[in-house]
Amino acid sequence: METRLLLPTKENIKKVGCALRDGMLAGIPTETVYGLAANALDGKAVAQIFEAKGRPMDNPLIVHISDFSQIERFSLVSEIPEKAYKLAERFWPGPLTVIMPKGTAIPDEVSAGLDTVAVRFPSHPVTKAVITAADRPLAAPSANTSGSPSPTTAGHVYHDMQGKIPYILDGGICEVGVESTVVTLCTPVPMLLRPGGITLEQLKDVLGEVEVNDAVLHQLKDGEKAESPGMKYKHYAPKADLILVKADNEKYIGFVNERADEKTGALCYDEDVPYLNVKTFAFGGKDDYTSQANRLFDALREIDETDVQTVYGRCPDTQGLAMAVYNRLIRSAGFEVIELA
Ligand code: AMP
Ligand code: MG
Repeated sequence: METRLLLPTKENIKKVGCALRDGMLAGIPTETVYGLAANALDGKAVAQIFEAKGRPMDNPLIVHISDFSQIERFSLVSEIPEKAYKLAERFWPGPLTVIMPKGTAIPDEVSAGLDTVAVRFPSHPVTKAVITAADRPLAAPSANTSGSPSPTTAGHVYHDMQGKIPYILDGGICEVGVESTVVTLCTPVPMLLRPGGITLEQLKDVLGEVEVNDAVLHQLKDGEKAESPGMKYKHYAPKADLILVKADNEKYIGFVNERADEKTGALCYDEDVPYLNVKTFAFGGKDDYTSQANRLFDALREIDETDVQTVYGRCPDTQGLAMAVYNRLIRSAGFEVIELA
């Protein structure tokens, strides 16, 4: 199959919207990362997403809408919890996914057999226009091959999906750069399942108490149930061996330079670059969490363009938006962290 990269003109948005309604797949920009979209009400169309990504069938998808009223209009949920209205009022459209009790229209392929469904109202004008053109809610996971870093440019999507999907809409670089925050309203106390562009602190501000699922910051133990199935898989990994180093600036730089050779790299902060004697992959300023989220996946993909074999990464902070960066990076590193006292 030929994969066509299209600019998001009115005509192309209409073309892609119609293709989606007819059961085809398309790569689309969102404010978080690029999505691989299909008509969420069409189980057969959705099944193709799992095939194109090589995604395990037990990992459910997020359903994207372009207007709050579509939740009821398309019977996406069986009940809209009171707290969902509060979250929507504050954070939608935006990078927040809310898990609610599943409605009758949701095919099993979308919910992976769970009795809940994940819903998001994105803010990117192209995403909203495509959903509206399709006149269907769109199931859309990140448009990468399963296990690889999520795509933040149309070029990343082309790299992973070339020959597998008919269309990619090129909307430039994604603003947030990490996937949406996922919060469930189906537990006794709302629970953060995946950190993202909306921070834990922001959620607490609206909901009061919010629990943080164990898998957000720690590796699940053998046999432990994943509340969010996606959190149990190794993810976002470059081909090189990535090891995180928890240390201050000086110790990190010393540690890496002691091991310097042409097969070693550093996934570091911008400020570290002049001091390191290895190939560097900078992913933002030390205290600039916004730029870290924005550049992380591109930096991870950049590692794959070189022949470095071992990469020592800075271990990010865990507050604010950095929690999302930390959550992705510990998975990229397969939870391998060296702590220097
Ligand atoms: P992605 O589509 O790649 O952004 O991944 C979606 C994430 O949301 C995965 O981690 C899923 O496991 C999670 N997710 C989607 N639907 C549900 C659900 N009904 N319950 C819990 N987690 C979900
Ligand atoms: Mg993903």
